[in-house]
Amino acid sequence: MSRTLFTSQQGGDLKLLHHREKLRVSLSLPVLHFMKQSHSDTVLVVDGTGGDFECDALITNSKGVGLAALAADCMPITFSAAQWVGVAHVGRVGFVKGIAQKTVKMMRDLGAGEIKATIGPSICGACYEVSPQMYQEISQNFPAARTSDSRHALDLQRGVTFDLEAMGVVVHNLNVCTLENPHFFSFRRGAEAERQAGLISL
Ligand SMILES: [Zn+2]
Repeated sequence: MSRTLFTSQQGGDLKLLHHREKLRVSLSLPVLHFMKQSHSDTVLVVDGTGGDFECDALITNSKGVGLAALAADCMPITFSAAQWVGVAHVGRVGFVKGIAQKTVKMMRDLGAGEIKATIGPSICGACYEVSPQMYQEISQNFPAARTSDSRHALDLQRGVTFDLEAMGVVVHNLNVCTLENPHFFSFRRGAEAERQAGLISL
């Protein structure tokens, strides 16, 4: 049985170490791993030891090891299977690089069976306007992320849902837009540094 949680301001800005520690203690987790995120497609397997993980996805089969992905408009996505859990930070760049699929593939390579994914609070397809050029480029390669050519907004939640379902993953989208919902940090609404987190543990 895994445990999933998406925190908002209640946890405090999770870029701050003391808020991370408070969160770990409140969840009674022996270890809570965060990542040094860089919109990469690096997925690391962790076991509760080490730190300074330069990656954008973590997976583990160690009980009591919490995994966290920070975001403020990007998607925090959690993955759960019987013996494995994972977490990924997926923004536009990570989506194009396929980090969500890479996380699933690595979990499966390590023996995970059926995988469920949950897409946490993130900017929605109605709000995520990008330049017309960027819209054309991405929607050509990823038609599921297309919305309307006149608004040139990308629906990354739908895009990643399509990609994961194509791999047989059961996807649950919380359908919470960070830009529209003041309970969550939104980079586009003005959160310069503050981040919320998606968390999962076995
Ligand atoms: Zn929205």
